[in-house]
Amino acid sequence: MKIFCLIALTLVSSLHVSYHEGGDDWTDTCQNGTLQSPIAIRDSESEIILVNTTSSIVLYPDFKPNFTMGHMTSYSFAVYSDWGNLAVAFPSKPSINLHSSAFHFHSPSEYTLNGKYFDLEMHIVMKNPNVQGSLYVLGIFFDVNGKTNNFISQVIESESNYTDVNLMDVFNGNSKIEKFYEFEGSLTTPPCTEGVKWFLWSEVQDLDESQRNFFHKFWAGNSSFAGNNGNNRNLQERNDRLVIKYGESDDMSIKLEFSVFLLVIAISLYLS
Ligand SMILES: [Zn+2]
Repeated sequence: MKIFCLIALTLVSSLHVSYHEGGDDWTDTCQNGTLQSPIAIRDSESEIILVNTTSSIVLYPDFKPNFTMGHMTSYSFAVYSDWGNLAVAFPSKPSINLHSSAFHFHSPSEYTLNGKYFDLEMHIVMKNPNVQGSLYVLGIFFDVNGKTNNFISQVIESESNYTDVNLMDVFNGNSKIEKFYEFEGSLTTPPCTEGVKWFLWSEVQDLDESQRNFFHKFWAGNSSFAGNNGNNRNLQERNDRLVIKYGESDDMSIKLEFSVFLLVIAISLYLS
């Protein structure tokens, strides 16, 4: 396990990411791409699919606790281990299992929901082991509300010591995720590779101020890292890409139009 961590850390540490301009000075795909992340997510611009319908997708996290240690990389605080799988369940075909070996954090958040930035955003990076080059990220928001987050406490403890980090605890007792956004995007750090399937959990998690400050300490007052800004990339153009919101709606009159239905089928085929 330690060897695996070292290899993963070496790969990530070889990148040198500067947030001086929020990523606007990054080059190549970061500059020229058309499906870049992060973007501003707005419910008014999303196609809404209600939970428990024949088109809804459900995420089932099945991660294992691991004795591990967190590290500051060149762009984030990250934790590497063999966490296990997130199952993506479709209504009418077999599930796919996405495997994760890393998660990291951005503060403030990279994505915005209905115009709001959150204090912290976690990215669980995953691959479908059966599809070479596939990349998926599950994003989770945290916002300071005075309540201590048990999972974040474990992450903070892992800064200097090997400790048990239970990735399941980030789901706060939820064994399935039904309310989330799904869309195409990119890595939010160079080389900004596109073709990344994003899931953003729409339920915001607890955080207390001292926990937020843990993530700030790596760049607060450190002008060489980000000019005293956060490690979040500036918002990118949405460019008419489809954003699907799986969730509940208080407007039960929302109906799936046929064109949206076809797009959902296309995305489901892409995921398979
Ligand atoms: Zn990230």
